[in-house]
Amino acid sequence: MKQPARQTKGTRTARADSLRERGARLSGALASLYPEARISLDFETSWQCLVATILSAQCTDERVNRVTPALFREIPDIAAMASAPPERIERLIGGQVPRTMEELVTLPGVGRKTANVLLGHVFGEPGLVVDTHVRRLSRRLGLTRNTDPEKIESDLQRVLPPSDWTPFSMRLILHGRRVCFARSPQCERCALIADCPQVGVAANVKARSRKKVSAQA
Ligand code: SF4
Repeated sequence: MKQPARQTKGTRTARADSLRERGARLSGALASLYPEARISLDFETSWQCLVATILSAQCTDERVNRVTPALFREIPDIAAMASAPPERIERLIGGQVPRTMEELVTLPGVGRKTANVLLGHVFGEPGLVVDTHVRRLSRRLGLTRNTDPEKIESDLQRVLPPSDWTPFSMRLILHGRRVCFARSPQCERCALIADCPQVGVAANVKARSRKKVSAQA
């Protein structure tokens, strides 16, 4: 039986280089599509961002935005929350929202996704948010083969420069909401199709969109 060719260091490097080039093209295309991409949660302070992001794990961003104005009016800051029951909030949150991934993930209810939102949107540090859209799209776009969010985050970090991490993930989220839907990706009208291997997309959707692309070429 013929043995599959062994991957040499050279082929691995070439694959990594071409992934980075494709990542750069995809990042540029997404930047043209969604120049103003930003998180859809409403907040003004790091503490409000933390609370809103934790709440958004339980329901939609729209719903969070409906309840947080009243919540932030009632409990405007960490001090107010710390003095409100349950008392354990005071012990857990303390006086300041921490600024590093290592410290943020020690807070209850805070995983890497929430921590990356804080890093990217409040503290101006590169933060690659892997939510359900980023997970789905980065697999379809062939930028990762993993399903575990932490591994996807590492794969994307290898493909993109740190300055792209936050905007790229926000733009992928928008693209997932507007075009690359979970059940019926709109490949026929997708601006990324030239660089998308459509991993896991149904064969009939792929065939339709490829036909359209070659007709336009
Ligand atoms: S071409 Fe299809 S699978 Fe690829 S990003 Fe666009 S909608 Fe998603």
